[in-house]
Amino acid sequence: MERGIETKCLHFEGNEGSTGNFGAVSFPIYQTATYAHPGVGQSTGYDYSRLQNPTKEHLEKVVASIENGTHAFTLSSGMAAISLLMELFHPGNHLITEADLYGGSIRLFRNVSEKNGISFSSIDCSQEDPEKYIRENTKAIFIEMPTNPMMRVTDIAHLADIARKHHLLLIVDNTFLSPYFQNPLDLGADVVVHSGTKYLGGHNDTLAGFLITNRSDVGEQLEFIIKTTDAGLAPFDSWLILHGIKTLGIRMEKAQENALQIAHWLQEQKHVMNVIYPGLSTHAGHEIMKKQARGFGAMLTFQLESKAFAVSILEKVRMIQFAESLGGVETLITYPIMQTHADVPLEIWEKNGITDSTLRLSVGIERVEDLLGELKAVFQETERELYGRA
Ligand SMILES: *Cc1c(COP(=O)(O)O)cnc(C)c1O
Repeated sequence: MERGIETKCLHFEGNEGSTGNFGAVSFPIYQTATYAHPGVGQSTGYDYSRLQNPTKEHLEKVVASIENGTHAFTLSSGMAAISLLMELFHPGNHLITEADLYGGSIRLFRNVSEKNGISFSSIDCSQEDPEKYIRENTKAIFIEMPTNPMMRVTDIAHLADIARKHHLLLIVDNTFLSPYFQNPLDLGADVVVHSGTKYLGGHNDTLAGFLITNRSDVGEQLEFIIKTTDAGLAPFDSWLILHGIKTLGIRMEKAQENALQIAHWLQEQKHVMNVIYPGLSTHAGHEIMKKQARGFGAMLTFQLESKAFAVSILEKVRMIQFAESLGGVETLITYPIMQTHADVPLEIWEKNGITDSTLRLSVGIERVEDLLGELKAVFQETERELYGRA
């Protein structure tokens, strides 16, 4: 019987029963740049840490196993992973991307990839038909599921059919749900991207990025590019991510439970115009999400009646921290137009519906009453200030 993902986060079958590493239960940190050869023309399997490092390699095996991939690569950040992935493409190639992406991905595509001769069509994959945008030189479709920050939901298996038919790579940034809730490779995607900084690491303390595939041709190309250019993760940081992954399951469950309660609470607030959380049955993507994922995650976006209300919330939160990033044990609140999406052109915000009163919460694992208590206090203080009532 195949093991459950919670178990796979803790135990890597390939390493079991081994007497290596002195039986260490926590995989050791191999802090070495290079490895001695037993003899001329011989190798321990490790020559130089740009190419292989046991700690990083162990992390890659664990991540491949929880994403059901055959190859996983660990980079120094999510953006390092996406930048490296773009090396698969050549000048003259065209990609179709979801329009509502992490701001850093949009910045990379528009400012770096375009300069390198790659062109993009950015579309709302939840509404538009990507097939209409396919050209002779189209090589890939790049999406996030759900999107950031507007939580749009796309049917991955449907996109995978289109990609297969036209020989395109389907790339899915799976950062928001993590492999605990969603495995895009099982739905037909070719490459999964993660910002390991988020749920995989889970503690707001380490940057990391991953590329995972189950296609050996893509795996070999990525391996060659990494060996050549490398932005690989250091051994200690690899260990921190391994450490984080051990509790992925319980963190995701608890954060999701909290997120649903907060979403319900926000829906009842009269100054909140819109709560966007796929776990709500009213969300347009709720049914698709139920079909392709095992959960809805703990990211939610909400829109206040005014910019002043939104800014006041950001200024008043205390335990909930006003900070970029997501996916950690601590609850964070983000102002997309000033933070994650600051470099995204205005017309894209408008097209995606991101406004100056849009806030994004990454719900953590605190006791939910404490989170709700703080939100209530912050809302009341804001109402008093803005409207002069008690
Ligand atoms: C944060 C994030 C990235 C970038 O990852 P870094 O680790 O910050 O470089 C990419 N995609 C998504 C969806 C993210 O949230």
